[in-house]
Amino acid sequence: MHSDRILILDDEPLTGQTIRSIAEFAGMQARHTTDPDEFFQLVQEWRPGHIALDLIMPDMDGVQVMIRLAELNCRARIIITSGVGTRVLDAAARSAAEHGLRIAGVLAKPFSPPRLRELLFASDTDAEYNSEQKLEQPATRKTQEDMPPPAADTQFSHQDLVRALDNDELFVVYQPKLHCRTGILTGFEALVRWQHPARGVVTPDSFIPLAEQSELIDQLTLRVLEKSLSWLHQLPRSVAESSGDPYLSWRMESVTLSLNISAASLNNLTLFDQLDECCQAWGIRRDRLILELTETSAMEDPIASLDMLTRVRMRGYHLSIDDFGTGYSSMLQLARLPFSEIKVDKSFVMTAEESEESRTVIRSIIELGHGLGLQATAEGIETEETLAYLTSVGCDLAQGYHIARPMTEQQTLEWLIERSHNNEESRLSVLHAMNLLDTPEEERYDRITRLACRLFGVQTTLLSLVDTDRQWFKSVQGLRIRETHRDASFCSHAIDQTGTMIVNDASQDPRFAGNPLVTGFPHIRFYAGAPIHASNGSKLGTLCLIDPEPGVLSDSETRLLEKLAGLLEAELDDEPGKITDRLTGLMNRKGFEKRAGQLLELCNHFGLSADLLFLDIDHFKKHNSVHGPQSGDRFLDSFSRLFRDAFSEADLISRFGSDEFVVLLVGQPPEAIKDMLNTLRRHFNASQTDSRIGLDFSTGHSTLDSETHDDLQQLLARADRDMYAARAAAGDDE
Ligand code: C2E
Ligand code: CA
Ligand code: CA
Repeated sequence: MHSDRILILDDEPLTGQTIRSIAEFAGMQARHTTDPDEFFQLVQEWRPGHIALDLIMPDMDGVQVMIRLAELNCRARIIITSGVGTRVLDAAARSAAEHGLRIAGVLAKPFSPPRLRELLFASDTDAEYNSEQKLEQPATRKTQEDMPPPAADTQFSHQDLVRALDNDELFVVYQPKLHCRTGILTGFEALVRWQHPARGVVTPDSFIPLAEQSELIDQLTLRVLEKSLSWLHQLPRSVAESSGDPYLSWRMESVTLSLNISAASLNNLTLFDQLDECCQAWGIRRDRLILELTETSAMEDPIASLDMLTRVRMRGYHLSIDDFGTGYSSMLQLARLPFSEIKVDKSFVMTAEESEESRTVIRSIIELGHGLGLQATAEGIETEETLAYLTSVGCDLAQGYHIARPMTEQQTLEWLIERSHNNEESRLSVLHAMNLLDTPEEERYDRITRLACRLFGVQTTLLSLVDTDRQWFKSVQGLRIRETHRDASFCSHAIDQTGTMIVNDASQDPRFAGNPLVTGFPHIRFYAGAPIHASNGSKLGTLCLIDPEPGVLSDSETRLLEKLAGLLEAELDDEPGKITDRLTGLMNRKGFEKRAGQLLELCNHFGLSADLLFLDIDHFKKHNSVHGPQSGDRFLDSFSRLFRDAFSEADLISRFGSDEFVVLLVGQPPEAIKDMLNTLRRHFNASQTDSRIGLDFSTGHSTLDSETHDDLQQLLARADRDMYAARAAAGDDE
């Protein structure tokens, strides 16, 4: 196949000529024909890498042309052109994709030359990027491109397949699945291939149906299971050996493996027993396996399926409904079946960019899946734009050529290693673009590291950002340094793994025992670091706990730490200018309400105590009208200074209204709260003897009720009542 050749089938000479001259101008060879027979001959002999196809021509059925191209195993990138409405073109493109053709896009006539160039260019880079044949072919074998095109009537017999199984000609390729938002690798789908002695690598669509009809499918599935589970078992070690990266290797211990199961196998319980045995033999947890069933197969007999699927699910395997959108399942049927994942069919995903209709289908499938508590995965993602679109509509996981083609074991290893290098580059560019490094300390971050210190009772907490060759601390509690060398940094290990990294005793951990921060100051023994992500998903660093004594972190504590890390992420996204009161520099009401809401939710969820103090300046308005607003402003300025000092250990302080201030305290003992208030009172009284401005303040206090799960509104109301009661007792009537 020649990627610099384009073949045009179009009955309008002018259109054909235009496409041709645009392509030639772009340095390609172009040929134009109006005759379908000549067209097919050229497809096989001239072997163009691109085809521009008019689907609507007199004396020709466009769909028939596509079927014939598919039968010829045509791998050229096809641009569909026509003067009909885009809806019809979209449908045609989908059907072509279903036939396994590679559709570059549709070009509705009259078309714009830039659009054509875009399609040609896109297909060019894709072809260069790595053609599937190249990737899947072991290096010693001829590539499919060098071989004669398979005959159109290619049919395998039962005997061929028996021989393939006997001679072990089947092998498995792996296609990765990533988390859309964060780009984190979650698992691989195993896809079978046949290394045919004469025909090269054969894709499953040409032999799975035969296997299903001839009852060889269970044998085939078992073969795929054995090969892919043994690969999965070996993966962490292979990664460690070829990358020398223990964390990349460690992460491979939790990736999932998706396996395709034919409808025909559904009633074969023995197969699932064999799967159990395989898992046992290779030490693989069953919940790491996701069994994919096509939508149609699962719905063939919904009642029998329900029985069967429930049993499989009860053994611990996950179930996924594949090719969703191509069958006719009703929501009700789907809700009854115990799936954990829904896979949007690639025919919609591949046309998402051009087709509004496809986008509508995608959005409804994701919404349906989420409504039923399923994870939504999109397959067939071929471009950056499609990935961005899917992310924006809430799709959870992504799979497709844009991320990687199905790869052999060796290619998978290379891909993993290369990716871990590239990730680091883009991570650093995001970190640098955020302009966070070497900036002053900020209370909005410090309040969270302080809270973490108090809640976990550790000596040190850090918001650590992992830079090129150092880790720099945006917020530090319990240490006087702001950075350490990256080689010694625990956090750079933590960002390399999924989830929170916990080291119970660094001196006993081979990765850290010799680390200078362990053998010398600050003598780290216990470490727990939860990743901090930028909004695009890059890991910037961690919120980490450090202590000179060994320690443990329960599951619930780990979740609490991750929640606190989430609060820091929310701060990174916020613009400080919008939440600062201009006069006093304190947080304004809007900023307070949002953060107090987050903290109270945390307290309610983790059973932590919380206290709210409400402070109101007495007769402030009267003072302003008598002495003028400037005098009032001066008073507020000096009051807020005293307020800030007295409550420097509080979790949130804010100027809530013109003469109202509020404090939120989490997990603080009553005496500590009383001390802070007393400090304010003492300093305030002292300051008043100098200025004699004659103003005073009142306070109200409320405590979170662990039974009723108060929200901010309720706490404020109770603090307010408390203040009025105190004022009434004192005989004040404001
Ligand atoms: P599937 O389960 O829907 O698998 C996804 C197919 O989409 C794969 O084709 C994959 O190579 C292809 N694909 C992935 N990303 C893209 C993309 O971005 N663009 C395009 N155009 N295609 C993409 P493959 O490997 O040819 O497999 C075809 C079908 O054969 C599978 O569809 C699955 O139904 C079946 N199959 C594959 N392996 C097995 C197996 O071990 N057992 C059974 N029963 N069926 C299998
Ligand atoms: Ca699948
Ligand atoms: Ca699929």
